[in-house]
Amino acid sequence: MSNAHDSSACIHCIIAPYVVEHMAQHDDAEIRKLAMDVVECAAEARTARMMLATMPMMAAIPSPAQRKHRIVYDLKNKGMDDLPGTLMREEGKPWKKKDKAAEEAYRHAGYVYDFYKKFFNRNSLDDNGMSLISSVHLRRKHNNAYWNGEQMVYGDGDGRRLIRFTKALDVVGHEFSHGVVTHTCNLEYKNESGALNEHFADVFGILVLQWKQNQDVTQSDWNIGKDCIGPEVDISALRTFKAGKAYENDPIMGTDLQPKHIDGKYTGSADKGGVHINSGIPNHAFYVMALALGGNAWERAGSMWYKTLDRLNSKSGFQEMVQATCSVARDEHGAGSAELKAVEKGWRAVGLM
Ligand SMILES: [Zn+2]
Repeated sequence: MSNAHDSSACIHCIIAPYVVEHMAQHDDAEIRKLAMDVVECAAEARTARMMLATMPMMAAIPSPAQRKHRIVYDLKNKGMDDLPGTLMREEGKPWKKKDKAAEEAYRHAGYVYDFYKKFFNRNSLDDNGMSLISSVHLRRKHNNAYWNGEQMVYGDGDGRRLIRFTKALDVVGHEFSHGVVTHTCNLEYKNESGALNEHFADVFGILVLQWKQNQDVTQSDWNIGKDCIGPEVDISALRTFKAGKAYENDPIMGTDLQPKHIDGKYTGSADKGGVHINSGIPNHAFYVMALALGGNAWERAGSMWYKTLDRLNSKSGFQEMVQATCSVARDEHGAGSAELKAVEKGWRAVGLM
């Protein structure tokens, strides 16, 4: 892994920088070229993102109706500089033009909106009906998807190792959930606070998927991103909430670096201090907690985690997270409750209690 200024560090993206880096060193020139395209694109987006990061509230595009309002644009293989692209559809109006990626982006954005509204009574990412904007067909065969602080941007994948990211509802849920974090505790995107930011995005990403697929805690595979993995890659997920690694020594993707215990915490400076790496620790705690509770994870477990967002601040780390989730469990369910015991069991499993 390289240093803090590694060029693959990106704005909120689904393919972690260490995976891109592995691909950039591949023997196959095409894989290298596609990886370099991701690095370049992330750099392009970062310039815009730096401004948005300092004033997240400015980034929200107000919704005309202050309720579910989706817009999909076609980037026509152009880059981030050409955002948002050509309008394909706006909520309540017919398609001007459509394709598979656009339909998925539109439908999945709707599921994310519905999820937050139905279970947490949250009106879009900013709780004020902001528009859910998606642009599809970023560059050519682009192997990543992004939340740039303002909207979703999807590559099509190269079709061999990764396929269109719009297909994976957990990925769509993950990226939009970064917007929810921005508009609540706004966890700073580095070190432990950044790992928590990634953690919340993974949690709500998988909960949206479990809800739409009607999977309880025992039916879910607790894997992220399996629907965007292409036919030439023999791994089952980009990462997993379960113990162990999602993949090891894969010729294309390398090895999943996520630890599932605090003893394995990554302390280097790559990936903004391991935001996509150390999120494995709270992710696994959430999984242990949800399994202890049983039933549908988006109900009690999801609700406690959603309420926790309001008890953290931009600098919160793992210890603050432990305290905040325990205090939510205590306040909502009582000191001797099964919920509090489950939360504690989760944190104990990863060595944080
Ligand atoms: Zn993310």
